Amino acid sequence: MSCPVCGAELEPARAFAAAGLECCTACGLHVSAVEDDAGAGRATYADDRYLAARSAVQWHEVQRRHEARVRLRWMRRWLAQGELFEVGAAAGWFLDEAARSGYRVRGVEPSPRLSDHARRVAGRDVATGYAEDIATVPSADAACLWHVLEHGAQPVTLLRAAAAQLRPGGLVFVEVPNIASPAAQRMGSRWSSLEAGFHLVHFTPGALRAGLERAGLVVLRIESVPAATYLRPVAWADPRRVLGALRAAWRARAAFRTHPWRGELLRAVAQRPAPVAGKPAAG
Ligand SMILES: [Zn+2]
Repeated sequence: MSCPVCGAELEPARAFAAAGLECCTACGLHVSAVEDDAGAGRATYADDRYLAARSAVQWHEVQRRHEARVRLRWMRRWLAQGELFEVGAAAGWFLDEAARSGYRVRGVEPSPRLSDHARRVAGRDVATGYAEDIATVPSADAACLWHVLEHGAQPVTLLRAAAAQLRPGGLVFVEVPNIASPAAQRMGSRWSSLEAGFHLVHFTPGALRAGLERAGLVVLRIESVPAATYLRPVAWADPRRVLGALRAAWRARAAFRTHPWRGELLRAVAQRPAPVAGKPAAG
């Protein structure tokens, strides 16, 4: 088997030997052993097996909305308004928060139950299915993939499908776990983000860059952030704990800074190239 991102050879990943991971000798992508082809992985979502295994996370509305608002604050630096297309829209809470803050939104989600929720409860335009299969309407100003890319065996194909929904010059926002982080390397096969059976590929900053570039995108930024970026400040509910929370936040302030690779989560912004001015667009 060769690397699904760059085609180079794979070798056993030493830090993750017990989990049977292989690592690309060129781009650094880590690959989980999969018994079947991509078709089997897809059924996991279409028949709601993933939802059954991770329902506590999927239905945690308060936490999911909080994460959405943190991501929207970050995205605003690149795109303050326009149309967002989300790949893997889950229950629709990110799109709902985005719509409430002024974006036009649409998305796609393979889980029948989650996509139904996104339409009926969150009231958002979410198709049931895979991004690779639905009709492409190249109108979006940005495509968002929050913890989606690691679930498929062919990340470049998925990125191309996301980019096909963009107008020329549109942006792709991605977040995935960072297997190059000291936390992942220290935990090895016990690292919680390995999610055996669900996460099929695992990214380092170099592998994410290689994947985006193979999909024909121009990388604008890759950075890492700590998982604590998405903690909810629950302490605010209790006034007696406010001072303690302020002190803790001050001590932890370094943990909220971005770093090229040390944080547990990787985020990237990439762009679908716009046609060169003065020349007609190809095709
Ligand atoms: Zn590779």
